[in-house]
Amino acid sequence: MVIVVSGPGGVGKGTIAQQLVDSMDNLWLSKSWTTRTIRKGEDPKSYYFASREEFESSIESGNFLEWTEFHGNLYGTPLPDAPDGEHILLEIDVQGAKAVVRKSIPALLIFVDAPSVEAQATRLRGRGDPEEEVQRRILRGKKEREIAKELGAYVIINDDVERTTKEIRALIENYVTT
Ligand code: 5GP
Repeated sequence: MVIVVSGPGGVGKGTIAQQLVDSMDNLWLSKSWTTRTIRKGEDPKSYYFASREEFESSIESGNFLEWTEFHGNLYGTPLPDAPDGEHILLEIDVQGAKAVVRKSIPALLIFVDAPSVEAQATRLRGRGDPEEEVQRRILRGKKEREIAKELGAYVIINDDVERTTKEIRALIENYVTT
């Protein structure tokens, strides 16, 4: 089964996705490709950091389940290669969630949101995003919320990472067993 976790930038979905796979033994986290440069302090394993040429040639070869352009950088989900019996967790933007739905892939859609725009901005600044980037991500977050609504995703407010992860884990467990 496929589980998609989306949400605006700076909402903490990367941490949540990692905690979910660490605490569930049958959940496999897909590693996305990106052409953006690695952030200071970012785990080098959080993405496969590709050159634009490499990314574009992979698109041509049909290696992506979905891909998108975000603030001038390419991001994509390679065709999943999960071990047998594992559920697949995709941590992608709502456009990616939309692409999954369009491909008629049955999926549990979860949209993690910040408690407030101020909280989102504080997180983005805290991880070192320049102010211009903070404003772009906030604006984009507004559109993302609308798309999530259209898609009928479960909206979960991340007011506390532990609590939020627990809530999402319960949703996933319920989804994969019914
Ligand atoms: P960031 O630059 O903050 O790591 O990611 C920017 C946005 O791209 C986030 O909303 C993130 O969820 C999304 N993203 C990351 N990987 C993928 C992917 O493979 N496909 C899509 N559609 N979005 C992705």
